[in-house]
Amino acid sequence: MPFCKQACHYCDFHFSTNLRKKQDMVSALQKELLLRKDELKNEEVQTIYFGGGTPSVLEIGEINEIIKSVDENYRVIEHPEITMEANPDDLSIKKIKELSDSPINRLSIGIQSFFDQDLKLMNRAHDAKEADLCLNEAKKYFDNISIDLIYGIPGMTNARWEENINKALSYELPHISSYALTVEPKTALKVFIDKGIIPNVDDEVAEEHFNILCTLLEKEGFINYEISNFGKEGYFSKNNTAYWKGKKYIGIGPSAHSYDGTKRGWNINNNSKYLRSIKENILPLEEEVLSKTDRYNEYVMTALRTIWGVSWDKIRNEFGTNYYEYLLDQSDRYIKEKLLVTEGDKLSVTKKGKFLCDGIASDLFMIKLK
Ligand code: SF4
Repeated sequence: MPFCKQACHYCDFHFSTNLRKKQDMVSALQKELLLRKDELKNEEVQTIYFGGGTPSVLEIGEINEIIKSVDENYRVIEHPEITMEANPDDLSIKKIKELSDSPINRLSIGIQSFFDQDLKLMNRAHDAKEADLCLNEAKKYFDNISIDLIYGIPGMTNARWEENINKALSYELPHISSYALTVEPKTALKVFIDKGIIPNVDDEVAEEHFNILCTLLEKEGFINYEISNFGKEGYFSKNNTAYWKGKKYIGIGPSAHSYDGTKRGWNINNNSKYLRSIKENILPLEEEVLSKTDRYNEYVMTALRTIWGVSWDKIRNEFGTNYYEYLLDQSDRYIKEKLLVTEGDKLSVTKKGKFLCDGIASDLFMIKLK
């Protein structure tokens, strides 16, 4: 849902702050769902995920219309996980109640911080009070709630980060996603940092924050099943786990990505062009067939971030001996440095290697073979 009420300073996702075309967009999404209905052949849809942008800008009627289109055009399992990303400023008491009466059964709420000074720095549309109110209310109706928290925010001390986590824990939620603030090109945050208005993010502080996060959440029984995701047993995101396990998915809407096991597709990231194209019954989709090397690299990158790790058998059987030996060779130094560990069939990051995971993964990438 490519609309947001205001632009967060750090965000480089695709969205528009002009909500005039919202109803047209809902109709176009329904039409895209129809146009692509044969893509899944007869495979079942296991999860539905409303992402953004900000899907919580949708009215309840619009949400129900979209879900109805999925149901009408696809074979959906009996109790699919249906998640909606929501921002606290959209979650009024009325809206939460309406959502709980809809098929949505999981909320992913963009809290980011419980401190106004962090929220202001990031230009979030909500304040700390709204964060607190919406969580208390959402808990009355939803059992499956996740919140997002951002660490490594300039000026955020370890003590304030700890306070933030403890505040999050006080709601006794079953899932927390947490990301380091990253400075993306062409964002307001980058401009402010370049002009010296905001101090730069500090990798060492972010690493300390990450370690604090892991320690406090693991103590409370959360499983760090993906580097940025912590869930209680039975509450891992089924939708996102499917991405990380290389399952197929269809992404609907501007800038949405799809994957069918061999091809990656992405819709145009422009709302007007998307609307025009769908109106003409043309899918605004570009595709690339992933080479074996691309698939190996993607598998290593995503699997290494999860507790399931990289399967040596999968590497040997799916990619062949060349790739297997290459990985053996490349991972050796990290195993010696105790940043990676091999246990049975699984290659995974150690506690010490977690924060460095993406850098390690890129050293394991295959760049020579095609
Ligand atoms: S609400 Fe989410 S998608 Fe929208 S600008 Fe903020 S971070 Fe980006």
